[in-house]
Amino acid sequence: MRYYALVPAAGSGSRMGAISGRGLPKQYLPLVGRPMIWHALSTLCSVPAIAGVFVVLAPEDIDWPQDAMASLGGKLQVLRCGGESRAQSVANGLRAMSATVDGIADDWVLVHDAARPCITVAMVDRLIAEVGDDDAGGLLAVPVADTLKRGDEHDRVHQTVPRDGLWQAQTPQMFRHRLLQDALDFAPSVTDEASAIEALGLSPRLVTADISNLKVTYPLDLQLAEWILRNRPPHA
Ligand code: C5P
Repeated sequence: MRYYALVPAAGSGSRMGAISGRGLPKQYLPLVGRPMIWHALSTLCSVPAIAGVFVVLAPEDIDWPQDAMASLGGKLQVLRCGGESRAQSVANGLRAMSATVDGIADDWVLVHDAARPCITVAMVDRLIAEVGDDDAGGLLAVPVADTLKRGDEHDRVHQTVPRDGLWQAQTPQMFRHRLLQDALDFAPSVTDEASAIEALGLSPRLVTADISNLKVTYPLDLQLAEWILRNRPPHA
């Protein structure tokens, strides 16, 4: 059984606009001396169980920093088939992977956001170990710690939502290649892969991670990510 990573990186990162200036997509913003996306790709390429790392770019992407990626070695493959939405980019990437890798249908694909630079090898190893051969797959996630409020259109509390049993979904999210492709054909408008699998009636496994695996969405997140990367013990 083989494992592959798929990193959708065809978004523009419009919510980072304030600091991305001329519109450099957020995954290429500088972070600890490298383009942000380099960090996740480097970690995924370092996981011994992962045989290949595929990154999905927008076809018109002119900012992909090829030179910065040279150090990552032969596991990394670039696919220029990004779509209109994250789910479309993943679906297109899965299709392109099957043209490259023979007999991939039952192999595992770990989908990881380009915008989660603080993922570690240990977190990926734990996900792979805890999902094991569970055909529903699984994802990294964090139990919700805060009290949750649903707001109304005037930004007033409409309701307090009980947080029992609520988790924040992160990535990687790992599923068998064919199952994920079928799921995204069936439910193409999802915001993560697990939602598509759930639409098929399956219950992916929640594997506990921690908040250091944050998604860089707003400018402050970039500073937090920098702090995490600079202050983490080596080989964490
Ligand atoms: O914008 P957001 O942070 O939700 O994007 C999550 C991930 O999905 C990012 O890695 C982004 O590049 C990717 N994405 C994509 N294709 C799109 C939109 C987002 O690959 N059309």
